[in-house]
Amino acid sequence: MTAAAFAFRGRPVVVGAGVAGLMTALELAPRPVVVLSKGPLGVEGSTLWAQGGMAAAVGRDDSPTLHGADTIAAGDGLCDAAIVDRFTRAAPKAIEKLARLGVRFDRKSDGGFALGLEAAHSRARVARVGGDGAGRELMRALVAAVQATPSIAVLEGFEARRLLVEDNAVRGLIAVGPSGPALFATDRVVMATGGIGGLYAESTNPLRSFGQGLALAARAGAALADMEFVQFHPTALDVPIRPLPLVSEAVRGEGALLIDERGERFMADVPGAELAPRDVVARAIWRLRAKGGRAFLDARAAIGAKFEARFPVIAAACRAAGVDPTNEPIPVRPAQHYHMGGIGVDAEGRSSVAGLWACGEAAATGLHGANRLASNSLAEAAVDAAIVARSVDGAKAHARAPAPHASAPPVGDPAAVRPILSRAAGVVRNGETLSATIGGLADMAASNGPAADSAAVALIIAVAALRRDHSLGAHYRSDFPSAPTARERFRLTLVDAFAAAAAFVPPVLARRTSIGRA
Ligand SMILES: Cc1cc2nc3c(=O)[nH]c(=O)nc-3n(C[C@H](O)[C@H](O)[C@H](O)COP(=O)(O)OP(=O)(O)OC[C@H]3O[C@@H](n4cnc5c(N)ncnc54)[C@H](O)[C@@H]3O)c2cc1C
Repeated sequence: MTAAAFAFRGRPVVVGAGVAGLMTALELAPRPVVVLSKGPLGVEGSTLWAQGGMAAAVGRDDSPTLHGADTIAAGDGLCDAAIVDRFTRAAPKAIEKLARLGVRFDRKSDGGFALGLEAAHSRARVARVGGDGAGRELMRALVAAVQATPSIAVLEGFEARRLLVEDNAVRGLIAVGPSGPALFATDRVVMATGGIGGLYAESTNPLRSFGQGLALAARAGAALADMEFVQFHPTALDVPIRPLPLVSEAVRGEGALLIDERGERFMADVPGAELAPRDVVARAIWRLRAKGGRAFLDARAAIGAKFEARFPVIAAACRAAGVDPTNEPIPVRPAQHYHMGGIGVDAEGRSSVAGLWACGEAAATGLHGANRLASNSLAEAAVDAAIVARSVDGAKAHARAPAPHASAPPVGDPAAVRPILSRAAGVVRNGETLSATIGGLADMAASNGPAADSAAVALIIAVAALRRDHSLGAHYRSDFPSAPTARERFRLTLVDAFAAAAAFVPPVLARRTSIGRA
Protein backbone atom coordinates (compact mmCIF):
# COMPACT_ATOMS: atom_id res chain seq x y z
CA MET A 1 0.00 0.00 0.00
CA THR A 2 1.38 3.43 -0.80
CA ALA A 3 1.63 6.07 1.88
CA ALA A 4 -1.04 8.18 0.12
CA ALA A 5 -3.60 5.39 0.21
CA PHE A 6 -2.75 4.54 3.83
CA ALA A 7 -3.34 8.11 4.96
CA PHE A 8 -6.89 8.02 3.62
CA ARG A 9 -7.93 4.73 5.19
CA GLY A 10 -11.68 4.56 5.84
CA ARG A 11 -12.59 7.66 3.86
CA PRO A 12 -15.14 7.42 1.07
CA VAL A 13 -13.45 7.29 -2.34
CA VAL A 14 -15.00 8.99 -5.38
CA VAL A 15 -13.64 7.57 -8.64
CA GLY A 16 -13.75 10.23 -11.36
CA ALA A 17 -13.40 13.99 -11.50
CA GLY A 18 -16.04 15.17 -13.96
CA VAL A 19 -19.20 17.02 -12.91
CA ALA A 20 -20.53 13.93 -11.08
CA GLY A 21 -17.38 13.19 -9.08
CA LEU A 22 -16.50 16.79 -8.21
CA MET A 23 -20.08 17.71 -7.25
CA THR A 24 -20.36 14.60 -5.06
CA ALA A 25 -17.14 15.57 -3.27
CA LEU A 26 -18.36 19.17 -2.83
CA GLU A 27 -21.71 17.95 -1.50
CA LEU A 28 -19.90 15.72 1.02
CA ALA A 29 -17.88 18.64 2.38
CA PRO A 30 -16.91 19.22 5.14
CA ARG A 31 -16.82 15.43 5.51
CA PRO A 32 -13.43 14.20 4.29
CA VAL A 33 -13.39 12.44 0.93
CA VAL A 34 -10.80 11.24 -1.57
CA VAL A 35 -11.28 11.88 -5.30
CA LEU A 36 -9.31 9.78 -7.79
CA SER A 37 -8.69 11.53 -11.08
CA LYS A 38 -7.25 9.41 -13.86
CA GLY A 39 -5.57 12.41 -15.44
CA PRO A 40 -4.57 15.84 -14.15
CA LEU A 41 -7.55 17.55 -12.52
CA GLY A 42 -9.84 19.31 -14.98
CA VAL A 43 -8.50 17.97 -18.27
CA GLU A 44 -10.25 14.60 -18.72
CA GLY A 45 -13.78 13.36 -19.18
CA SER A 46 -16.84 14.35 -21.17
CA THR A 47 -17.87 17.19 -18.88
CA LEU A 48 -15.10 19.40 -20.22
CA TRP A 49 -16.40 18.90 -23.75
CA ALA A 50 -20.08 19.67 -23.09
CA GLN A 51 -21.43 22.29 -25.45
CA GLY A 52 -25.13 23.10 -25.16
CA GLY A 53 -25.64 23.52 -21.43
CA MET A 54 -27.93 22.23 -18.70
CA ALA A 55 -31.65 21.53 -19.00
CA ALA A 56 -33.87 22.93 -16.25
CA ALA A 57 -37.32 24.49 -16.12
CA VAL A 58 -36.17 28.02 -15.32
CA GLY A 59 -37.95 29.89 -18.13
CA ARG A 60 -41.16 31.87 -17.47
CA ASP A 61 -43.11 29.70 -19.91
CA ASP A 62 -41.77 26.44 -18.46
CA SER A 63 -42.45 24.09 -15.57
CA PRO A 64 -41.02 20.85 -14.11
CA THR A 65 -44.15 19.11 -15.40
CA LEU A 66 -43.43 20.15 -18.99
CA HIS A 67 -39.74 19.22 -18.61
CA GLY A 68 -40.82 15.84 -17.22
CA ALA A 69 -43.25 15.20 -20.08
CA ASP A 70 -40.51 15.92 -22.64
CA THR A 71 -38.04 13.67 -20.76
CA ILE A 72 -40.53 10.78 -20.75
CA ALA A 73 -41.49 11.27 -24.40
CA ALA A 74 -37.82 11.26 -25.49
CA GLY A 75 -37.21 8.22 -23.25
CA ASP A 76 -39.91 6.39 -25.24
CA GLY A 77 -41.95 5.63 -22.14
CA LEU A 78 -39.20 3.68 -20.35
CA CYS A 79 -38.25 6.40 -17.86
CA ASP A 80 -38.86 5.93 -14.14
CA ALA A 81 -41.63 8.51 -13.62
CA ALA A 82 -40.79 9.12 -9.94
CA ILE A 83 -37.13 9.76 -10.75
CA VAL A 84 -38.12 12.09 -13.59
CA ASP A 85 -40.42 14.03 -11.29
CA ARG A 86 -37.75 14.38 -8.61
CA PHE A 87 -35.14 15.42 -11.18
CA THR A 88 -37.21 18.05 -12.97
CA ARG A 89 -38.19 19.68 -9.67
CA ALA A 90 -34.62 19.70 -8.40
CA ALA A 91 -32.85 20.81 -11.61
CA PRO A 92 -33.58 24.58 -11.27
CA LYS A 93 -32.15 24.58 -7.73
CA ALA A 94 -29.10 22.63 -8.89
CA ILE A 95 -28.43 25.30 -11.50
CA GLU A 96 -28.77 28.06 -8.93
CA LYS A 97 -26.35 26.16 -6.71
CA LEU A 98 -23.81 25.89 -9.52
CA ALA A 99 -24.18 29.63 -10.13
CA ARG A 100 -23.42 30.21 -6.43
CA LEU A 101 -20.38 27.94 -6.77
CA GLY A 102 -19.09 30.34 -9.42
CA VAL A 103 -20.34 28.93 -12.76
CA ARG A 104 -20.88 31.93 -15.05
CA PHE A 105 -24.12 31.06 -16.84
CA ASP A 106 -24.99 33.19 -19.87
CA ARG A 107 -27.57 35.79 -18.85
CA LYS A 108 -30.18 37.90 -20.61
CA SER A 109 -30.26 41.65 -20.10
CA ASP A 110 -32.86 41.20 -17.30
CA GLY A 111 -30.48 38.86 -15.41
CA GLY A 112 -32.43 35.68 -16.24
CA PHE A 113 -30.75 32.62 -17.72
CA ALA A 114 -30.11 32.68 -21.50
CA LEU A 115 -31.92 29.55 -22.68
CA GLY A 116 -31.29 27.46 -25.79
CA LEU A 117 -33.78 25.23 -27.59
CA GLU A 118 -32.67 21.66 -28.26
CA ALA A 119 -34.24 18.59 -29.84
CA ALA A 120 -37.43 17.20 -28.30
CA HIS A 121 -37.72 20.06 -25.80
CA SER A 122 -41.08 21.82 -26.03
CA ARG A 123 -39.53 24.96 -24.51
CA ALA A 124 -36.20 26.75 -24.71
CA ARG A 125 -34.79 25.39 -21.43
CA VAL A 126 -31.11 24.66 -21.86
CA ALA A 127 -29.22 27.08 -19.62
CA ARG A 128 -26.22 28.08 -21.69
CA VAL A 129 -22.76 28.57 -20.27
CA GLY A 130 -20.03 30.28 -22.26
CA GLY A 131 -21.92 30.08 -25.59
CA ASP A 132 -21.24 26.54 -26.77
CA GLY A 133 -18.47 25.95 -24.22
CA ALA A 134 -20.62 24.85 -21.25
CA GLY A 135 -18.23 22.12 -20.10
CA ARG A 136 -15.15 24.33 -20.01
CA GLU A 137 -16.79 26.89 -17.76
CA LEU A 138 -18.42 24.25 -15.57
CA MET A 139 -15.11 22.48 -15.00
CA ARG A 140 -13.25 25.74 -14.37
CA ALA A 141 -15.66 26.65 -11.59
CA LEU A 142 -15.87 23.16 -10.08
CA VAL A 143 -12.10 22.65 -10.03
CA ALA A 144 -11.68 26.05 -8.32
CA ALA A 145 -14.35 25.15 -5.75
CA VAL A 146 -12.78 21.75 -5.05
CA GLN A 147 -9.30 23.23 -4.70
CA ALA A 148 -10.70 25.69 -2.17
CA THR A 149 -12.26 22.90 -0.08
CA PRO A 150 -9.79 21.45 2.44
CA SER A 151 -11.86 18.31 3.15
CA ILE A 152 -11.43 17.09 -0.44
CA ALA A 153 -8.18 15.27 -1.26
CA VAL A 154 -7.76 14.95 -5.02
CA LEU A 155 -5.25 12.33 -6.14
CA GLU A 156 -4.28 13.11 -9.72
CA GLY A 157 -3.01 10.42 -12.05
CA PHE A 158 -4.69 7.65 -10.03
CA GLU A 159 -6.59 5.09 -12.10
CA ALA A 160 -8.96 2.72 -10.27
CA ARG A 161 -8.35 -0.84 -11.48
CA ARG A 162 -10.30 -3.17 -9.15
CA LEU A 163 -12.89 -3.10 -6.40
CA LEU A 164 -12.29 -5.47 -3.51
CA VAL A 165 -15.55 -7.04 -2.40
CA GLU A 166 -16.37 -9.55 0.30
CA ASP A 167 -19.86 -10.88 1.05
CA ASN A 168 -21.26 -8.53 -1.58
CA ALA A 169 -19.84 -5.50 0.26
CA VAL A 170 -17.05 -3.15 -0.78
CA ARG A 171 -13.87 -3.63 1.26
CA GLY A 172 -11.42 -1.59 -0.73
CA LEU A 173 -10.18 -0.40 -4.07
CA ILE A 174 -6.96 -0.91 -5.97
CA ALA A 175 -5.69 1.97 -8.06
CA VAL A 176 -2.49 2.64 -9.87
CA GLY A 177 -0.91 6.02 -9.27
CA PRO A 178 2.28 7.76 -10.35
CA SER A 179 4.34 5.66 -7.88
CA GLY A 180 2.64 2.35 -8.62
CA PRO A 181 -0.26 0.37 -7.16
CA ALA A 182 -2.15 1.73 -4.16
CA LEU A 183 -4.72 -0.01 -2.03
CA PHE A 184 -7.48 2.09 -0.51
CA ALA A 185 -9.08 0.42 2.49
CA THR A 186 -12.62 1.79 2.33
CA ASP A 187 -16.15 0.48 2.42
CA ARG A 188 -17.66 3.42 0.50
CA VAL A 189 -16.89 3.97 -3.16
CA VAL A 190 -18.75 6.25 -5.60
CA MET A 191 -18.24 5.41 -9.29
CA ALA A 192 -18.34 8.63 -11.31
CA THR A 193 -16.28 7.44 -14.25
CA GLY A 194 -18.46 8.76 -17.09
CA GLY A 195 -19.41 7.11 -20.36
CA ILE A 196 -18.39 4.37 -22.76
CA GLY A 197 -17.67 6.19 -26.03
CA GLY A 198 -14.10 4.88 -26.19
CA LEU A 199 -15.56 1.40 -26.76
CA TYR A 200 -16.86 2.59 -30.17
CA ALA A 201 -14.94 3.38 -33.34
CA GLU A 202 -16.97 6.56 -33.87
CA SER A 203 -17.79 8.56 -30.78
CA THR A 204 -17.91 12.14 -29.61
CA ASN A 205 -16.51 11.12 -26.18
CA PRO A 206 -12.90 11.41 -25.11
CA LEU A 207 -11.06 8.22 -26.12
CA ARG A 208 -10.17 7.49 -22.48
CA SER A 209 -13.87 7.32 -21.51
CA PHE A 210 -14.38 3.62 -22.06
CA GLY A 211 -16.58 2.43 -19.24
CA GLN A 212 -13.90 1.43 -16.75
CA GLY A 213 -16.21 2.08 -13.81
CA LEU A 214 -18.83 -0.21 -15.32
CA ALA A 215 -16.22 -2.95 -15.72
CA LEU A 216 -15.04 -2.55 -12.12
CA ALA A 217 -18.61 -2.70 -10.84
CA ALA A 218 -19.49 -5.69 -13.04
CA ARG A 219 -16.38 -7.60 -11.94
CA ALA A 220 -17.38 -6.86 -8.33
CA GLY A 221 -20.76 -8.53 -8.97
CA ALA A 222 -22.91 -5.40 -9.38
CA ALA A 223 -25.89 -5.54 -11.74
CA LEU A 224 -25.73 -3.19 -14.74
CA ALA A 225 -28.98 -1.79 -16.12
CA ASP A 226 -30.34 -0.51 -19.45
CA MET A 227 -27.04 -1.43 -21.10
CA GLU A 228 -28.55 -1.81 -24.59
CA PHE A 229 -29.53 1.85 -24.69
CA VAL A 230 -26.64 3.68 -26.31
CA GLN A 231 -27.35 7.14 -27.67
CA PHE A 232 -25.95 8.10 -31.05
CA HIS A 233 -25.79 11.81 -31.66
CA PRO A 234 -27.07 12.47 -35.18
CA THR A 235 -24.75 15.36 -35.98
CA ALA A 236 -21.11 14.66 -35.32
CA LEU A 237 -18.83 16.37 -37.82
CA ASP A 238 -18.25 13.87 -40.64
CA VAL A 239 -14.47 14.10 -40.81
CA PRO A 240 -11.66 11.55 -40.36
CA ILE A 241 -10.82 12.86 -36.87
CA ARG A 242 -11.29 10.68 -33.76
CA PRO A 243 -13.09 11.37 -31.49
CA LEU A 244 -15.55 13.07 -33.81
CA PRO A 245 -16.19 16.76 -33.05
CA LEU A 246 -19.81 17.40 -32.06
CA VAL A 247 -22.12 19.83 -33.81
CA SER A 248 -24.52 20.59 -30.97
CA GLU A 249 -28.26 20.29 -31.36
CA ALA A 250 -28.42 23.96 -30.46
CA VAL A 251 -27.38 24.65 -34.08
CA ARG A 252 -30.58 22.94 -35.26
CA GLY A 253 -32.36 24.71 -32.39
CA GLU A 254 -31.44 27.98 -34.10
CA GLY A 255 -32.93 26.87 -37.39
CA ALA A 256 -30.17 25.01 -39.27
CA LEU A 257 -31.65 22.42 -41.65
CA LEU A 258 -30.63 18.85 -42.44
CA ILE A 259 -30.16 18.29 -46.16
CA ASP A 260 -28.88 15.43 -48.29
CA GLU A 261 -26.15 15.56 -50.93
CA ARG A 262 -28.69 16.96 -53.44
CA GLY A 263 -29.56 19.79 -51.09
CA GLU A 264 -33.00 18.37 -50.20
CA ARG A 265 -34.41 18.31 -46.67
CA PHE A 266 -35.02 14.76 -45.51
CA MET A 267 -36.52 15.46 -42.06
CA ALA A 268 -39.21 17.92 -43.16
CA ASP A 269 -42.08 15.39 -43.07
CA VAL A 270 -41.06 13.66 -39.82
CA PRO A 271 -42.84 14.87 -36.64
CA GLY A 272 -40.48 17.34 -34.99
CA ALA A 273 -38.48 17.61 -38.24
CA GLU A 274 -34.86 18.56 -37.50
CA LEU A 275 -35.67 18.69 -33.78
CA ALA A 276 -37.16 15.19 -33.54
CA PRO A 277 -35.63 13.02 -30.76
CA ARG A 278 -31.99 12.08 -31.29
CA ASP A 279 -32.65 8.42 -32.07
CA VAL A 280 -35.13 9.36 -34.81
CA VAL A 281 -32.74 11.81 -36.50
CA ALA A 282 -29.76 9.44 -36.09
CA ARG A 283 -31.64 6.60 -37.80
CA ALA A 284 -32.75 8.87 -40.65
CA ILE A 285 -29.12 9.84 -41.30
CA TRP A 286 -27.98 6.22 -40.90
CA ARG A 287 -30.52 5.12 -43.55
CA LEU A 288 -29.47 7.89 -45.91
CA ARG A 289 -25.84 6.84 -45.59
CA ALA A 290 -26.70 3.15 -45.94
CA LYS A 291 -28.14 4.04 -49.36
CA GLY A 292 -24.90 5.82 -50.29
CA GLY A 293 -26.11 9.34 -49.48
CA ARG A 294 -24.59 11.97 -47.23
CA ALA A 295 -26.08 14.32 -44.66
CA PHE A 296 -25.28 17.99 -44.15
CA LEU A 297 -26.37 20.63 -41.69
CA ASP A 298 -27.11 23.86 -43.49
CA ALA A 299 -26.73 26.82 -41.14
CA ARG A 300 -26.21 29.43 -43.87
CA ALA A 301 -29.68 31.00 -43.90
CA ALA A 302 -30.62 30.57 -40.23
CA ILE A 303 -27.32 31.56 -38.59
CA GLY A 304 -24.97 32.67 -41.35
CA ALA A 305 -22.39 35.25 -40.32
CA LYS A 306 -23.42 34.98 -36.63
CA PHE A 307 -22.13 31.37 -36.49
CA GLU A 308 -18.66 32.21 -35.21
CA ALA A 309 -19.96 34.40 -32.37
CA ARG A 310 -22.77 32.08 -31.35
CA PHE A 311 -20.89 28.75 -31.65
CA PRO A 312 -17.18 29.51 -31.28
CA VAL A 313 -16.18 25.94 -30.29
CA ILE A 314 -18.06 24.34 -33.20
CA ALA A 315 -16.82 27.01 -35.60
CA ALA A 316 -13.24 26.22 -34.58
CA ALA A 317 -13.80 22.46 -35.09
CA CYS A 318 -15.30 23.14 -38.53
CA ARG A 319 -12.43 25.43 -39.46
CA ALA A 320 -9.88 22.80 -38.38
CA ALA A 321 -11.64 20.36 -40.71
CA GLY A 322 -11.65 22.86 -43.59
CA VAL A 323 -15.39 23.59 -43.40
CA ASP A 324 -16.76 27.14 -43.34
CA PRO A 325 -20.26 26.90 -41.76
CA THR A 326 -21.18 30.45 -42.79
CA ASN A 327 -20.77 29.63 -46.49
CA GLU A 328 -21.22 25.87 -46.89
CA PRO A 329 -23.30 23.03 -45.40
CA ILE A 330 -21.55 21.12 -42.58
CA PRO A 331 -21.07 17.38 -43.28
CA VAL A 332 -22.55 15.35 -40.40
CA ARG A 333 -22.97 11.71 -39.37
CA PRO A 334 -24.22 9.80 -36.32
CA ALA A 335 -21.67 8.87 -33.64
CA GLN A 336 -21.91 7.25 -30.24
CA HIS A 337 -22.48 10.05 -27.75
CA TYR A 338 -24.05 8.98 -24.44
CA HIS A 339 -24.93 5.82 -22.53
CA MET A 340 -28.35 5.64 -20.91
CA GLY A 341 -27.24 2.35 -19.31
CA GLY A 342 -24.72 1.90 -16.54
CA ILE A 343 -24.42 0.67 -12.99
CA GLY A 344 -27.98 -0.06 -11.90
CA VAL A 345 -28.80 2.15 -8.92
CA ASP A 346 -31.75 2.78 -6.64
CA ALA A 347 -33.23 6.17 -5.76
CA GLU A 348 -30.23 6.92 -3.49
CA GLY A 349 -27.66 5.99 -6.11
CA ARG A 350 -26.84 2.64 -4.43
CA SER A 351 -25.81 -0.29 -6.58
CA SER A 352 -26.59 -3.94 -5.84
CA VAL A 353 -23.22 -4.21 -4.02
CA ALA A 354 -23.23 -2.71 -0.52
CA GLY A 355 -20.96 0.30 -0.29
CA LEU A 356 -20.92 0.99 -4.03
CA TRP A 357 -22.74 4.04 -5.37
CA ALA A 358 -22.76 5.45 -8.88
CA CYS A 359 -23.37 9.00 -10.10
CA GLY A 360 -23.42 10.76 -13.47
CA GLU A 361 -23.18 8.98 -16.80
CA ALA A 362 -21.80 5.81 -15.15
CA ALA A 363 -25.13 5.33 -13.34
CA ALA A 364 -28.40 4.00 -14.73
CA THR A 365 -30.97 5.81 -12.62
CA GLY A 366 -34.02 5.36 -14.84
CA LEU A 367 -34.17 9.08 -15.67
CA HIS A 368 -33.32 8.70 -19.35
CA GLY A 369 -35.37 5.63 -20.21
CA ALA A 370 -34.57 4.40 -23.71
CA ASN A 371 -33.19 7.72 -24.94
CA ARG A 372 -31.82 10.73 -23.08
CA LEU A 373 -33.41 14.12 -23.60
CA ALA A 374 -30.72 16.56 -24.76
CA SER A 375 -28.81 18.35 -21.99
CA ASN A 376 -30.39 16.33 -19.17
CA SER A 377 -27.09 14.68 -18.22
CA LEU A 378 -25.07 17.51 -16.68
CA ALA A 379 -28.15 18.55 -14.74
CA GLU A 380 -28.78 14.95 -13.65
CA ALA A 381 -25.23 14.65 -12.32
CA ALA A 382 -25.57 17.91 -10.39
CA VAL A 383 -28.92 16.86 -8.89
CA ASP A 384 -27.86 13.31 -8.04
CA ALA A 385 -24.52 14.28 -6.52
CA ALA A 386 -26.40 15.75 -3.55
CA ILE A 387 -28.54 12.63 -3.20
CA VAL A 388 -25.56 10.27 -3.42
CA ALA A 389 -23.51 12.38 -0.98
CA ARG A 390 -26.34 12.25 1.58
CA SER A 391 -26.58 8.49 1.18
CA VAL A 392 -22.81 7.98 1.46
CA ASP A 393 -22.70 10.18 4.53
CA GLY A 394 -25.59 8.33 6.12
CA ALA A 395 -24.08 4.89 5.50
CA LYS A 396 -22.41 3.32 8.45
CA ALA A 397 -18.65 3.15 7.99
CA HIS A 398 -17.37 -0.17 9.31
CA ALA A 399 -14.01 -0.42 10.99
CA ARG A 400 -13.06 -3.47 9.00
CA ALA A 401 -9.61 -4.96 8.72
CA PRO A 402 -7.74 -3.82 5.62
CA ALA A 403 -9.05 -5.51 2.52
CA PRO A 404 -7.10 -8.50 1.28
CA HIS A 405 -4.39 -7.60 -1.17
CA ALA A 406 -4.89 -8.39 -4.83
CA SER A 407 -2.63 -7.40 -7.69
CA ALA A 408 -3.61 -4.54 -10.00
CA PRO A 409 -4.71 -5.67 -13.46
CA PRO A 410 -2.76 -4.22 -16.39
CA VAL A 411 -3.78 -0.94 -17.98
CA GLY A 412 -6.89 -1.41 -20.15
CA ASP A 413 -6.98 -0.95 -23.90
CA PRO A 414 -10.35 -1.10 -25.69
CA ALA A 415 -8.87 -1.06 -29.23
CA ALA A 416 -9.74 -4.70 -29.96
CA VAL A 417 -13.34 -4.18 -28.81
CA ARG A 418 -14.13 -1.06 -30.87
CA PRO A 419 -14.76 -2.64 -34.28
CA ILE A 420 -16.72 -5.51 -32.76
CA LEU A 421 -19.08 -3.41 -30.66
CA SER A 422 -19.51 -0.79 -33.38
CA ARG A 423 -20.65 -3.45 -35.85
CA ALA A 424 -22.94 -5.32 -33.46
CA ALA A 425 -24.47 -2.59 -31.30
CA GLY A 426 -24.58 0.51 -33.49
CA VAL A 427 -27.50 2.72 -34.57
CA VAL A 428 -29.28 -0.33 -36.05
CA ARG A 429 -28.77 -3.84 -34.60
CA ASN A 430 -29.94 -7.33 -35.54
CA GLY A 431 -30.05 -10.66 -33.73
CA GLU A 432 -27.77 -12.44 -36.17
CA THR A 433 -24.83 -10.06 -35.72
CA LEU A 434 -25.37 -9.82 -31.97
CA SER A 435 -25.46 -13.62 -31.60
CA ALA A 436 -22.32 -13.98 -33.68
CA THR A 437 -20.56 -11.45 -31.45
CA ILE A 438 -21.15 -12.55 -27.90
CA GLY A 439 -19.02 -15.71 -27.92
CA GLY A 440 -15.88 -13.83 -28.97
CA LEU A 441 -16.53 -11.02 -26.50
CA ALA A 442 -16.99 -13.56 -23.70
CA ASP A 443 -13.65 -15.20 -24.54
CA MET A 444 -11.94 -11.83 -24.56
CA ALA A 445 -13.63 -10.82 -21.29
CA ALA A 446 -12.45 -14.04 -19.63
CA SER A 447 -8.85 -13.52 -20.77
CA ASN A 448 -6.10 -11.63 -18.97
CA GLY A 449 -5.53 -9.44 -22.01
CA PRO A 450 -5.60 -5.64 -22.06
CA ALA A 451 -9.10 -5.61 -23.61
CA ALA A 452 -10.65 -7.93 -20.99
CA ASP A 453 -12.49 -5.26 -18.99
CA SER A 454 -13.70 -3.45 -22.11
CA ALA A 455 -14.90 -6.76 -23.53
CA ALA A 456 -16.83 -7.45 -20.31
CA VAL A 457 -18.76 -4.18 -20.71
CA ALA A 458 -19.26 -4.79 -24.45
CA LEU A 459 -20.48 -8.31 -23.73
CA ILE A 460 -23.16 -7.03 -21.34
CA ILE A 461 -24.26 -4.45 -23.92
CA ALA A 462 -24.47 -7.10 -26.67
CA VAL A 463 -26.33 -9.58 -24.49
CA ALA A 464 -28.79 -6.91 -23.34
CA ALA A 465 -29.34 -5.84 -26.97
CA LEU A 466 -29.94 -9.44 -27.99
CA ARG A 467 -32.30 -9.96 -25.09
CA ARG A 468 -34.42 -6.96 -26.06
CA ASP A 469 -36.21 -8.38 -29.07
CA HIS A 470 -38.11 -5.24 -30.03
CA SER A 471 -37.25 -1.66 -30.86
CA LEU A 472 -37.47 1.10 -28.29
CA GLY A 473 -35.85 4.53 -28.19
CA ALA A 474 -32.17 4.32 -29.08
CA HIS A 475 -32.31 0.51 -29.34
CA TYR A 476 -33.44 -0.32 -32.88
CA ARG A 477 -33.53 -3.94 -34.07
CA SER A 478 -33.93 -4.34 -37.85
CA ASP A 479 -35.25 -7.87 -37.21
CA PHE A 480 -37.75 -6.59 -34.59
CA PRO A 481 -38.70 -3.07 -35.69
CA SER A 482 -41.91 -2.86 -33.61
CA ALA A 483 -42.22 -1.35 -30.17
CA PRO A 484 -43.07 -3.67 -27.25
CA THR A 485 -46.52 -3.82 -25.74
CA ALA A 486 -45.10 -3.41 -22.23
CA ARG A 487 -42.13 -1.27 -21.21
CA GLU A 488 -39.67 -3.01 -18.89
CA ARG A 489 -36.11 -2.25 -17.80
CA PHE A 490 -33.55 -5.01 -17.38
CA ARG A 491 -30.56 -5.64 -15.19
CA LEU A 492 -27.75 -8.01 -16.02
CA THR A 493 -24.72 -9.14 -14.07
CA LEU A 494 -21.50 -10.25 -15.72
CA VAL A 495 -22.34 -13.79 -14.61
CA ASP A 496 -25.67 -13.55 -16.47
CA ALA A 497 -23.85 -12.33 -19.57
CA PHE A 498 -21.29 -15.14 -19.48
CA ALA A 499 -24.11 -17.67 -19.06
CA ALA A 500 -25.93 -16.21 -22.06
CA ALA A 501 -22.78 -16.36 -24.14
CA ALA A 502 -22.17 -19.97 -23.14
CA ALA A 503 -25.70 -20.96 -24.09
CA PHE A 504 -25.52 -18.70 -27.14
CA VAL A 505 -29.28 -18.42 -27.46
CA PRO A 506 -31.56 -15.61 -26.37
CA PRO A 507 -34.02 -17.66 -24.23
CA VAL A 508 -31.34 -18.10 -21.56
CA LEU A 509 -31.90 -14.47 -20.83
CA ALA A 510 -35.50 -15.03 -19.88
CA ARG A 511 -34.55 -14.26 -16.27
CA ARG A 512 -35.93 -10.76 -16.07
CA THR A 513 -35.30 -8.56 -13.14
CA SER A 514 -37.23 -5.35 -13.11
CA ILE A 515 -35.37 -2.62 -11.35
CA GLY A 516 -36.50 -2.44 -7.79
CA ARG A 517 -35.96 0.50 -5.53
CA ALA A 518 -34.75 0.12 -2.00
C1 LIG B 1 -18.94 16.50 -26.97
C2 LIG B 1 -19.96 16.34 -25.87
C3 LIG B 1 -20.89 17.35 -25.66
C4 LIG B 1 -21.85 17.21 -24.64
N1 LIG B 1 -22.73 18.24 -24.39
C5 LIG B 1 -23.58 18.13 -23.35
C6 LIG B 1 -24.42 19.22 -22.99
O1 LIG B 1 -24.38 20.30 -23.59
N2 LIG B 1 -25.29 19.04 -21.95
C7 LIG B 1 -25.36 17.88 -21.23
O2 LIG B 1 -26.16 17.78 -20.30
N3 LIG B 1 -24.55 16.85 -21.55
C8 LIG B 1 -23.66 16.95 -22.57
N4 LIG B 1 -22.84 15.90 -22.85
C9 LIG B 1 -22.85 14.73 -21.96
C10 LIG B 1 -22.17 15.09 -20.65
O3 LIG B 1 -21.04 15.90 -20.93
C11 LIG B 1 -21.74 13.86 -19.87
O4 LIG B 1 -22.77 12.94 -19.78
C12 LIG B 1 -21.31 14.27 -18.47
O5 LIG B 1 -20.33 15.28 -18.54
C13 LIG B 1 -20.75 13.09 -17.72
O6 LIG B 1 -20.21 13.56 -16.52
P1 LIG B 1 -19.53 12.52 -15.55
O7 LIG B 1 -18.98 13.30 -14.42
O8 LIG B 1 -20.46 11.41 -15.29
O9 LIG B 1 -18.33 11.90 -16.43
P2 LIG B 1 -17.05 12.60 -17.06
O10 LIG B 1 -17.18 14.06 -17.16
O11 LIG B 1 -16.74 11.85 -18.31
O12 LIG B 1 -15.92 12.32 -15.98
C14 LIG B 1 -15.45 11.02 -15.74
C15 LIG B 1 -14.21 11.11 -14.89
O13 LIG B 1 -13.83 9.81 -14.48
C16 LIG B 1 -12.43 9.66 -14.66
N5 LIG B 1 -12.18 8.22 -14.75
C17 LIG B 1 -12.67 7.32 -15.63
N6 LIG B 1 -12.22 6.09 -15.32
C18 LIG B 1 -11.44 6.22 -14.23
C19 LIG B 1 -10.70 5.31 -13.44
N7 LIG B 1 -10.67 4.00 -13.71
N8 LIG B 1 -9.99 5.78 -12.37
C20 LIG B 1 -9.99 7.11 -12.07
N9 LIG B 1 -10.69 8.02 -12.79
C21 LIG B 1 -11.41 7.58 -13.86
C22 LIG B 1 -12.16 10.47 -15.92
O14 LIG B 1 -10.80 10.76 -16.06
C23 LIG B 1 -13.01 11.70 -15.61
O15 LIG B 1 -12.34 12.53 -14.70
C24 LIG B 1 -21.87 16.03 -23.86
C25 LIG B 1 -20.94 15.02 -24.08
C26 LIG B 1 -19.98 15.17 -25.07
C27 LIG B 1 -18.96 14.08 -25.27
